[in-house]
Amino acid sequence: MIYDFHTHSNNSFDSKEKLEDMCISAIEKGITHIGFTEHFCLNSIRKTYGYMNFDRFSRDTLEAKTKFSKQLNIYKGIEICEPHLMNDDYKDALESLNIDMILGSVHNIRNMGLRDLIKTYDYKKAYELYFQEVYDMVKNADFDIAAHIDLLNRYAYKTIGTYDFKDNIEMIEEIFKLIIKREKGIEINTSVFRGREDNMENSLKLIKLYKSLGGEIITVGSDAHKAEDVGQYCKESLKIISELGFKYIFTFEERHAIGNRIV
Ligand SMILES: [Zn+2]
Ligand SMILES: [Zn+2]
Repeated sequence: MIYDFHTHSNNSFDSKEKLEDMCISAIEKGITHIGFTEHFCLNSIRKTYGYMNFDRFSRDTLEAKTKFSKQLNIYKGIEICEPHLMNDDYKDALESLNIDMILGSVHNIRNMGLRDLIKTYDYKKAYELYFQEVYDMVKNADFDIAAHIDLLNRYAYKTIGTYDFKDNIEMIEEIFKLIIKREKGIEINTSVFRGREDNMENSLKLIKLYKSLGGEIITVGSDAHKAEDVGQYCKESLKIISELGFKYIFTFEERHAIGNRIV
């Protein structure tokens, strides 16, 4: 079994790939479970706003489920940026939709994208602001998996540099404690490894810390926006979490976490 639980088809504003083609690529790579986690946004100042068409998304997933029923398990999720800033709006909007999973993520801080954040603040302040926002999200939002906990690193490592784990460990610990207390989970987002395996070090430290604090719920996702990236490093990540002592990798159905024994 190989799982990819963070992908974007053209139901997201920033992907051109047909959901069906993402599924074909997944099958070719031996992926057995794929979660589509399309961007959904109710904040009218964002580019994402107004793009998601849930009827189309449901139709696409249903068609793919029928077509690939023997080869692939397909799940319907969404990724929400800064859900904690509009809790009530999301609650209303999502009430009648049967979504399998919500990824909560932080892509903007103080109305600034992460690329601008690192241009505006120095190294220390940028990471401090970023992790504070993740903390606020984890504390207040309705979500299932906190996506790419150290996303800022994806943008920052080439310019202001990768973060020193020690500088941020207290805040990261608080984030993980809250996630565990609220029975939510984290993911290994393999996009940070694409073309830069050196980035694995902090990711490993993060997962080890999460485990040492009692964290169990974990998913793996490629964050693919193209068919060719589907499943990338997912098999390797499964091996990593198994070696770190996790017994289960999680999938979600209608917002219920399901532990799948890693064999
Ligand atoms: Zn994201
Ligand atoms: Zn994503």
